[in-house]
Amino acid sequence: MGGVTAAAAASRTERPRVGVLGGTFDPPHRAHLALAAAAREALRLDRVLFVVAGDPWRKSDRQVTPAALRVEMVRAAIAPLAWAEVSTVEVDREGPSYTAETLEALVRPGEDWWFILGADALADMPAWREPRRIVASARLAVARRPRAVGPLVPAALREVVPDVESRIDEVEMPPLDISATDIRERIRRGAATDAPLPPVVREVIDREGLYRE
Ligand code: ATP
Repeated sequence: MGGVTAAAAASRTERPRVGVLGGTFDPPHRAHLALAAAAREALRLDRVLFVVAGDPWRKSDRQVTPAALRVEMVRAAIAPLAWAEVSTVEVDREGPSYTAETLEALVRPGEDWWFILGADALADMPAWREPRRIVASARLAVARRPRAVGPLVPAALREVVPDVESRIDEVEMPPLDISATDIRERIRRGAATDAPLPPVVREVIDREGLYRE
């Protein structure tokens, strides 16, 4: 009884811990869910927000699926997860979204926030807008991706954010050789997607005829 009371008191005083998993989610897949779950467990996060990119300025070399459908697919994928939520903050904003601004809009005082990302996204970060502002708002929860080579923290990022390592928590997750690029390619050639995709996501893809071209 005393233990329960102490635990309840501790949970009342502990600062809320929130994760943000940003992505294009075109489509969302099982590695996104595994990454969010791994970060949640490792960092004892109360909730994880899946922030769907509105105008993906780093991927504008290809046709991106309309945001409303990507939001619908993410909603369907995370429906069974009580701790996961979709955020449309980037979709609702006009023009390109920058992670630094998104985090500043989301983070509340008195809470601890993590921006969750794969090592490929971390390697791209030196090219993002104001990485220093990103790590000022949130710590980084980073997972390695299969087939990645080289160090987790690229030298180019250390040049832009000299103390970046002190803001990183590495998250262990089972390596999942899954990418949205590979899934789009599988669908284009009519291959099965049972392993990488939740069936509810595939239903939206088939209903809308996505990724056929
Ligand atoms: P694409 O193939 O279109 O580039 P993607 O599969 O990398 O897409 P995104 O929506 O761009 O998916 O990724 C969102 C986040 O999820 C990024 O931080 C990315 O590093 C991470 N992520 C995606 N797939 C994996 C994976 N297999 N393992 C670990 N992290 C992943």
